[in-house]
Amino acid sequence: MRSASGKLYHSLNQKREEGDNVNINIQNTGWIEVICGSMFSGKTEELIKRIRRAEYARQKIMVFKPIIDNRYDHENIVSHSQMQAPSIPISEASEIYEHLTEDVQIVAVDEAQFFDESLIGICNDLADRGIRVIVAGLDQDYKGNPFGCMPQLLAIAEYVTKNLAICLKCGNPANRTQRTIHSSEQILVGSTDSYEARCRNCHEVLD
Ligand SMILES: [Zn+2]
Repeated sequence: MRSASGKLYHSLNQKREEGDNVNINIQNTGWIEVICGSMFSGKTEELIKRIRRAEYARQKIMVFKPIIDNRYDHENIVSHSQMQAPSIPISEASEIYEHLTEDVQIVAVDEAQFFDESLIGICNDLADRGIRVIVAGLDQDYKGNPFGCMPQLLAIAEYVTKNLAICLKCGNPANRTQRTIHSSEQILVGSTDSYEARCRNCHEVLD
């Protein structure tokens, strides 16, 4: 397994090396970034953007997603805007370790809310080993409650990006996901037409 003495540099440090006068020297350390928000807030798009930037820098990155998420594609993570990146589908968070290679610098996880709480310890462990961990997921379920392991991940993350969508009803900033069909299951995968972004005024929980 990779030691903490890797080749990871914080972007500020890369800037410093390029000649900028930034006196912050963060290196040989991992961290956790969380990208959260409602559906249609561009979380996966933001994740793919960060993956692309890392690829341009020739950093070794591994992307995981839960097998439960079979929308659009089985191997790629795909945003609503059809951006995509190759990924490894797994059913348990612990399977990340089975795929991890010595040289990996970044581990990304999409749709993290579908994993159980073991993902929290695993993200911490990877960051402790010097790996940059990027986690994207829904912070709230369709009732507006914190979703799965996301609240704990938000608490332990160094960096949090909370995206807002636009309320389909009134146009206000939206941080909730409205389910438009009747079902009491927390997870209803597959049809994005069963959901829309809503603000707190327009969000309602259907019975
Ligand atoms: Zn609204």
